[in-house]
Amino acid sequence: MAVSGLSSLFLNLTLGFLLGTAVAYLAYQAASLSRSGAVAAALVGMVVFGLGGLPGAFLLLTFFVSSSALSRLFGRRKSRLEEKFAKSSRRDAGQVLANGGVATVFMILHGILPAEAWPWIGFAASLAAVNADTWATELGVLNRTPPRLVTTWKSVEPGTSGAVSLAGTLAALAGSALIALLAAFLIPVGGVEGVSPLALVGVLTAAGMVGSFFDSFLGATLQAIYFCPACAKETERHPLHACGTPTVLKRGWPWLNNDWVNVLCALAGAGVALVII
Ligand SMILES: [Zn+2]
Repeated sequence: MAVSGLSSLFLNLTLGFLLGTAVAYLAYQAASLSRSGAVAAALVGMVVFGLGGLPGAFLLLTFFVSSSALSRLFGRRKSRLEEKFAKSSRRDAGQVLANGGVATVFMILHGILPAEAWPWIGFAASLAAVNADTWATELGVLNRTPPRLVTTWKSVEPGTSGAVSLAGTLAALAGSALIALLAAFLIPVGGVEGVSPLALVGVLTAAGMVGSFFDSFLGATLQAIYFCPACAKETERHPLHACGTPTVLKRGWPWLNNDWVNVLCALAGAGVALVII
């Protein structure tokens, strides 16, 4: 029994590795991932596809394909903002793990405790949060009026960390609800006792929204924000600005960069869902 369990685990992880590598290779060819990003995505794919099977693969691919497609669709409109964001639209290993790392840990727990519902809930809610946040970032630029800082409600330049807008918030709601809907109906353990699938959609959507809001809140408060003395501009870029000038810390905690903010966004989403459930 133990031997056949191990060999089927090995087979699943091998299949997951092949599928993950294929997706990562295509994304690298399409310039959605850097070289390090492709390696990280292949590993995340191996774990999620291997341990989560088709439901896990479907959720992860929905997040990955929709966010890559959105940054491609609105890339031109965003390019003038690009220097304000820390990184380009080619995602590196740090970004891949920041968005998919928490989900991967929950998927490992799901592999260890396949009869429990909570690891799947944590997996789905963390993906709902990062999907909400990514959709908000990509579609928020469509807002007609400048966004407002989530803490002071002051009007700020588009692309400012911690800024929110109506378009961005609606995008976050749609991004979170899409993952929630798929997760509630693909849940492999037969659902959560005493929670209807529709209620589960509501819980996961709300959890994703809280995670995305937490992301904005950190962006406006504790996230490391730098200043380029040559351009006299605020930026997330460090150590060098797009112009090549070294940037200096303006506010926030030096270690709390955009990647760590995304990790905390995913954790907040999972935490909220697990507390409610
Ligand atoms: Zn500069």
